[in-house]
Amino acid sequence: TVVTRFAPSPTGFLHIGGARTALFNWLYARGRGGKFLLRIEDTDRARSTPEATDAILQGMAWLGLDHDGDVISQFERADRHAEVALQLLAEGKAYKCFATQDEIQAFRDKAKEEGKSTLYRSPWRDADAASHPDAPYVVRIKAPQDGTTVIRDEVQGDVKIANEQLDDMILLRSDGTPVYMLAVVVDDHDMGVTHVIRGDDHLNNAARQMMIYEAMGWDLPTYAHIPLIFGPDGKKLSKRHGATGAEEYQKMGYPAAGMRNYLARLGWSHGDDEFFTDAQAKEWFDLGGIGKSPARFDFKKLENICGQHIAASDDAALLHELVDFQHVMGVQPFDAATTELLQVGMYCLKERAKTFPELLEKAHFITAQRPLQPDEKASKNLDDVSRGILKELTPQLQNASWTRDGLEAVTSSFAEAKEIKFGKMAGPLRAALAGRAVTPSVFDMMLVLGPDESIARLQDAAA
Ligand code: GLU
Repeated sequence: TVVTRFAPSPTGFLHIGGARTALFNWLYARGRGGKFLLRIEDTDRARSTPEATDAILQGMAWLGLDHDGDVISQFERADRHAEVALQLLAEGKAYKCFATQDEIQAFRDKAKEEGKSTLYRSPWRDADAASHPDAPYVVRIKAPQDGTTVIRDEVQGDVKIANEQLDDMILLRSDGTPVYMLAVVVDDHDMGVTHVIRGDDHLNNAARQMMIYEAMGWDLPTYAHIPLIFGPDGKKLSKRHGATGAEEYQKMGYPAAGMRNYLARLGWSHGDDEFFTDAQAKEWFDLGGIGKSPARFDFKKLENICGQHIAASDDAALLHELVDFQHVMGVQPFDAATTELLQVGMYCLKERAKTFPELLEKAHFITAQRPLQPDEKASKNLDDVSRGILKELTPQLQNASWTRDGLEAVTSSFAEAKEIKFGKMAGPLRAALAGRAVTPSVFDMMLVLGPDESIARLQDAAA
């Protein structure tokens, strides 16, 4: 079975690029009945923080990227990493190197002078154990010195690296602690990872990590190194382009489903499909669809896709997400009556809203309480003439049958009798019913609010 993993370093928030890497791994596993694991690469003790781990977990929870099993801490597995290094040492595939910093520097200086490669070649590689001094040492792997390492990458194709460019990488530092490169390989192996899907900034590491697989006689995972995300200007995505943290997008009110859809499309494609469901993404996602060149983050497209997801969402699910959004923003939860009206009115709120704040703006007629405080634009629609219209129209609406047809019939015959266009009445009605100029249709609002509340608001405005 397929086993993928997301292996973030907990040094900050969940970067949008990291979120995409997590998503690709999740989709790949979920579409194949596989497992998606989460490993926190917290070996850099100075830079790793529990807050960063929390931020990563929260970001993933928001995006619905559920992982299997426990969260694995890389640091806690340090003994196991060291054990592997010692095994390689015992098998003669690694060696103790007693070279001092000064000696290594002198080697490099000399190589430079002679115009040779400055890659360090330790004299201890072939030294006899009897000659070992009683001094601090590091453990180095015996890297292959000729031939070629070929990374068979599902995205990049075959990437060849001349082995003479590989040095005898350190596995254990002189204090006995394992290096990161060793930890990644041991963890991936022990976790049974079959597919390593990660940013192409790790492509060069793959060649070095392969040495360890080779030395241990372990099966290599399938590699897929995905190009980084660029901004609209073709430069690496950064703060300059806009938000880079997943949680910033959550706070801007993008729905998680839309975010998943957009991030999936960022560097991966399935024909011309732009809008798709999770089920489709899981079914369609494959490594062959990942592009070789960096995708550019397109904020307009993100909004567009999010708008489509909101419109397509099930009303109850959308309300649930809206409530979560309010919670994240630290806003008071809706009371029971408001929640019920939101559920009733969701059908007309979700049209053309690209984010939750936009949806809430349209929901103002539901969330606001009488007496309404019309905003500036709405107030302009409540001049004397408009109030006169409302005053005459309200009693007629009071007698209408409270259905879309009934309400439409009353307003259009009123408009005809008064020889005014319906457009002239819509502004005042919106202002009276919502206190806003931009709202769902007046009929939708009246139907959602019901006769008593609607009439009361119209009377308030006309007074
Ligand atoms: N911890 C690495 C990072 O955050 C990922 C390493 C990997 O996926 O192998 O960039």
